[in-house]
Amino acid sequence: MGSSVREAAACADAAAIETGMPDIIVLMGPQGAGKGTQAQMLAERLNLPLVATGDMLREIAQSETPLGLQVREVQAAGQLVSDDILAEVVKTRLSRDCQRGCILDGFPRTLPQVRLLESIARELGRNITVISIEVPRELLFKRLAGRQTCSACGAIYNVYFKPSKKEGVCDLDGQPLFNRSDDNEDAIAQRLSLYDEKTRPLLDSYAESGRLRRVDGTGPPEEVFARIVAALGTQVALDAH
Ligand code: AMP
Repeated sequence: MGSSVREAAACADAAAIETGMPDIIVLMGPQGAGKGTQAQMLAERLNLPLVATGDMLREIAQSETPLGLQVREVQAAGQLVSDDILAEVVKTRLSRDCQRGCILDGFPRTLPQVRLLESIARELGRNITVISIEVPRELLFKRLAGRQTCSACGAIYNVYFKPSKKEGVCDLDGQPLFNRSDDNEDAIAQRLSLYDEKTRPLLDSYAESGRLRRVDGTGPPEEVFARIVAALGTQVALDAH
């Protein structure tokens, strides 16, 4: 392909991304559904910022401030951080570099957060599309309880499905692996029932407004990703790679 043809094709792709994609994509699903992985893949391939509230709050939790301590306790117990704190964190983040849109992972989780997102999307002039990643509960438990993360590079393993070659050590850099403090069995059960109680009902309201797409979250990440792309109604993300 000549360079001008390549440029034209690249422009066409960019245009398709601009016009053919919903601009705020919310990934929903209980913890362990693979939201984080899919959110990262979407952000990379659509070149949109990834906003993962769990990660942002974990960073805040590391600071030795009253807010840090409060968030740390709430997260370790598997509870939800208050809507007021979320409003502060999310508003600041979305006003930074999300004018073209973004991928949201872990937000909204409550009705007040849904309302907050509506008002931010209106201000930014952006549409919202919600992808619900659906996975049976027994599989969720194994995915969560078995999860291990490298303390240095962030690589993710699972003792049931994707164990590291040497127990407790990262294959890539030899650094120790850790379990998230909220990946113990009690906290997992707590988080799954919180999802059913507080977050699942939000899906109904998104379904009513026609913004919800349900996607089967079982199987390898690339397969789930292809289903998400199909649900979003675009080929662009796959063609680009
Ligand atoms: P996640 O990484 O999305 O599983 O989030 C980990 C923890 O961060 C949750 O269990 C909550 O304590 C907190 N968190 C993350 N996002 C939210 C949110 N939208 N609303 C309230 N708490 C949140």
